[in-house]
Amino acid sequence: MNLLIKNGRVIDPSQGFDDVADVLVEAGLVKEIGKSLKAPAGVATVDAAGKYVVPGLVDMHVHLRDPGLEYKEDIVSGTRAAAAGGFTSIACMPNTKPVIDNKAVAGYIINKAKSEGFCNVFPVGCITYGMGGERMAEMGELKEAGCVAVSDDGRPVANAELMRRALEYARGIGILVISHAEDLALVGEGVMNEGFTSTELGLKGIPRVAEDIATARDVMLAEYTNSPLHIAHVSTRGSVRLIREAKARGVKVTCETAPHYFTLTDDAVRGYDTNAKMNPPLREADDVAAIKEGLRDGTIDCIATDHAPHHLDEKDVEFNVAANGIIGLETSLPLSLKLVEEGTLTLNQLVEKMSINPSKIIGISRGSLKIGSVADLTVIDPTAEWTVEPEKLASKSRNTPFAGWRMKGAATCTILGGVVAFPR
Ligand SMILES: [Zn+2]
Repeated sequence: MNLLIKNGRVIDPSQGFDDVADVLVEAGLVKEIGKSLKAPAGVATVDAAGKYVVPGLVDMHVHLRDPGLEYKEDIVSGTRAAAAGGFTSIACMPNTKPVIDNKAVAGYIINKAKSEGFCNVFPVGCITYGMGGERMAEMGELKEAGCVAVSDDGRPVANAELMRRALEYARGIGILVISHAEDLALVGEGVMNEGFTSTELGLKGIPRVAEDIATARDVMLAEYTNSPLHIAHVSTRGSVRLIREAKARGVKVTCETAPHYFTLTDDAVRGYDTNAKMNPPLREADDVAAIKEGLRDGTIDCIATDHAPHHLDEKDVEFNVAANGIIGLETSLPLSLKLVEEGTLTLNQLVEKMSINPSKIIGISRGSLKIGSVADLTVIDPTAEWTVEPEKLASKSRNTPFAGWRMKGAATCTILGGVVAFPR
């Protein structure tokens, strides 16, 4: 399958390229980038005039809910939502049913994604058996089965000794540990950020320090064991500061944040909107500013969605008992493009955080349009304006706090291995 993507602004920080050019794809690989390339006979063309052409977006934190919870999402609907959002590769978290703590579940996901999916799927295995927090999972087996990282995402590894051994073992076999940084004792019965708004609403709060302490512990363990560590969904100014300081000391720590943490504050919870309930919770304006500064100065390496689909029945209940999480694959790109429009990030930095950096962190050969690379590309129309209508999204679930929001920017064409995955 050959394809010529014409006249787009090709942005590829992996090779310092940013210019209007054509990209020729042949046999699933990037064959040539240049001006006025001639399409060989019979080659399909994509008109990208006025659009950005970037290495396919990569989201290293997605919940696909398959196996076991397919009423919320499955590999087909989740990868379709990813492709619609401009993503060509995603890493999926292990809190499925059963959890990804063995070869069979990882293999099932990889095979189903390959045969029916709309993007590449790289599973993340568990750190501990059954995510029980007691016994280390067979990381070697998980890596062999194709897992790109291990995490008990959704739950912290409460036992520091176990986390230490996990970091040491993971370093030994070359697999990344992703930390869900949360101190459950401090979270208690909290359901939103602890602060002025929680007091006003009469809801139990989750203090920032619940995240900060866990971040500090895991950063210290990474430093002590000299192991790579990735902190998921950073939401507090304290975590940003701790990670910035650790990086300055040479600790091998990377991290991600999600679009909601630089877009919303806990004000969104007013009205007891369960679509604003997530974990970690939406914080305050100072945290949003710190997240943006962390993105700008490179402390925060990636933008990941933490796409967390839930059925209406799990959200259409009182705030205290509603499930945590929101869907994010189809709103991430426009919300992130806002960072460019407001001057927080350059377009090149955005491409790094949404494609190159996550690829490097999970160790997949993506995030580049160098000649010979796999032809995963995203064509973005930065001017496309659209309104978020949850019922029209590709995800099976509708739990977004951005319903009715006007968005600017959209993926108009997502190309996977040289083949158009969206729209198709
Ligand atoms: Zn998490």
